[in-house]
Amino acid sequence: YFNIFNVADLLSHYPYRYIDKSKIYTTDELDETLPYIQLYGYIKNLKVVGVGPKARLTATFMDDKGTIELVWFQAVSFHAGNIKSDVKYLIFGRPQKFGNKYSIVHPDRKIASSEEIEHLAGFQAIYSTSETMKKKDMDSEGLSKLMNRIWKDLDRNEVFEYLPHEVISKYQLMSLPDALEKIHFPKNAKEILAAQKRIKFEEFFHLQFKMLQQKTKRKKFEQGFLFPKIDLHFDDFYKNHLPFQLTNAQKNVLRDIRKDTMAGRQMNRLVQGDVGSGKTIVGLMSMLMAIDNGFQACMMAPTEILARQHYEGLSQLLQTMDLQVEILTGSTSAKNKKRILDDLKHGKIDILLGTHALIEPTVIFSNLGLVVIDEQHRFGVAQRGALWEKNSLPPHILVMTATPIPRTLAMTIYGDLDYSVIDELPPGRKPIATRHVFNSKKQEVFHFVRKEIDEGRQVYIVFPLIEESEKMDLKNLEDGYAEIIQLFPSPKYTVAKVHGKMKNDEKNAQMELFVSGKAQILVSTTVIEVGVNVPNASIMVIENAERFGLSQLHQLRGRVGRGADQSYCILMTDYQLSIDGRKRMNIMVETNNGFVIAEEDLKMRGPGDISGTRQSGDVQLKLASVAIDGDILAMSRQVAIQIVEEDSELRTEKYKNLQRYQILRDRNHQKWGRIS
Ligand code: ADP
Ligand code: MG
Repeated sequence: YFNIFNVADLLSHYPYRYIDKSKIYTTDELDETLPYIQLYGYIKNLKVVGVGPKARLTATFMDDKGTIELVWFQAVSFHAGNIKSDVKYLIFGRPQKFGNKYSIVHPDRKIASSEEIEHLAGFQAIYSTSETMKKKDMDSEGLSKLMNRIWKDLDRNEVFEYLPHEVISKYQLMSLPDALEKIHFPKNAKEILAAQKRIKFEEFFHLQFKMLQQKTKRKKFEQGFLFPKIDLHFDDFYKNHLPFQLTNAQKNVLRDIRKDTMAGRQMNRLVQGDVGSGKTIVGLMSMLMAIDNGFQACMMAPTEILARQHYEGLSQLLQTMDLQVEILTGSTSAKNKKRILDDLKHGKIDILLGTHALIEPTVIFSNLGLVVIDEQHRFGVAQRGALWEKNSLPPHILVMTATPIPRTLAMTIYGDLDYSVIDELPPGRKPIATRHVFNSKKQEVFHFVRKEIDEGRQVYIVFPLIEESEKMDLKNLEDGYAEIIQLFPSPKYTVAKVHGKMKNDEKNAQMELFVSGKAQILVSTTVIEVGVNVPNASIMVIENAERFGLSQLHQLRGRVGRGADQSYCILMTDYQLSIDGRKRMNIMVETNNGFVIAEEDLKMRGPGDISGTRQSGDVQLKLASVAIDGDILAMSRQVAIQIVEEDSELRTEKYKNLQRYQILRDRNHQKWGRIS
């Protein structure tokens, strides 16, 4: 499950750490920045503390210079029975400081004579492996041996430098063949750092280069529809139907879109705006631009609930205008679907809303000019691509996302799109007050909830639901629901309930109860995470809040604070929390700014873990981290931009190797069988 299919894949299964075997440290040389190191001395004073599963083993490690503590939490009796106090051990591990004393948790150990330790090796690479791999002797050591053999047998023509000399020397990069060798078989720490830098550069570079290449190609060749006129519906809407003044940020984005749609090229624009910043209206007004020029438009949402909400919201806004708006989702009845598809083909529908059902090949427009995609992170590039087929020229594409991501990341993973930000909330919004509350204070929370409800407000109560623990989670939700309907009995109160396992009809009916204000409380899972808009709701209670990631918490919180009233977000957790869990709660309490939260989220999630942000497969970073390696990212971006500007199709001699390398990279890997 590491997706290792061939040699290139195997060589890019990089070590996640190294043991420094080039040197034996002494206990007085330790500091916390050290990698895994080795020490040589006696292990004494074995002590088992506690009993049962909570038992741990402690010992004193002693060399000529002093002592440190060793700790084992697992296989306690095994280690306790095995360690001898009268022989010298070579131990490996990572020193950590507790108070003013160093300790190593779960050190590796090996009895070693003083002659043995004279033969010191270099650095040893440590690889992550799966259980299946371990069963086939492919543990870290086995993998290391395999790497060695493969590296020696490798056809050197397949590993070559492709960057021009001047780039290599300007950015002081290790050559690619060297980097590949040193990342697996380094002799010292300096080599590791240099190799890592080159590999990270590599990952960022290819990602960006490809996207920039695509963007350049599109701008050069991809013709697009022209929308010169905005004098009919757009003007009418702007002057007579817009229920508020647009913010400057909204106006700027509309200006960007207008420019794009008058350029004769296909638009591919990403609009990023925090939750509640008013993206829907921007989407709607762009669709009016298309309609004014004789085109149809569609808007695609990631969930049925959201599509329905768009349909109701937009229908209301357009009520007195002469426009045909329809909705198509998975639960549209066969009869309705037939009628809609028919009308669509004959140009009788101006705006079609829906879910990914809109992508299906049976959905044929008479003249589609613009596609608005709401909450893009749920759609992959391939899905977007499918929409292009729906007219003689690819329609303009406007992608709107509420998941704010740091600019660096946006540049990297949306490098193929143009980019606008709505960095301003509509006026008059009161910041949402966020509190972190322990479960022991639940009754007080419900008391507060009741008070708000009695003043006419509505309340969300959200439970986590993840696939791995689905049964337990559903039970939690049902238990929670039972408790809530007891505390808020009918007929005085109505409590709606929504989760992903319900039938669509039922889900819609329950949702409708809440949207219409008939239900005061909505108990749900994260199906409401994205986009739901009920301005009268003023409290968001999140149960087991520690189980959500930061951006999810922020999304959920964004469901309240949409009206003029003071709103609240209450994060409920147990008293016992992991360090990360506590940190997430604190960040949520401290800030309402989605961009700040996105930065923190990225930092906490660390390297490589951005697959949640964009469909996995689009972006693959193994070593590089957008959060940590900002300088390398900037460097590689400079190089990518320079090359694309100079020779985006890699026709010149200078970039011949790069072109060859790209082909090799993209080539279908079928040479080796699957080994994991
Ligand atoms: P999101 O960006 O999260 O999709 P919405 O488009 O759902 O946000 O807008 C949130 C709320 O703000 C809606 O009720 C919408 O009518 C309102 N809104 C949008 N733009 C403005 C504005 N310029 N002034 C006042 N209210 C606005
Ligand atoms: Mg929205």
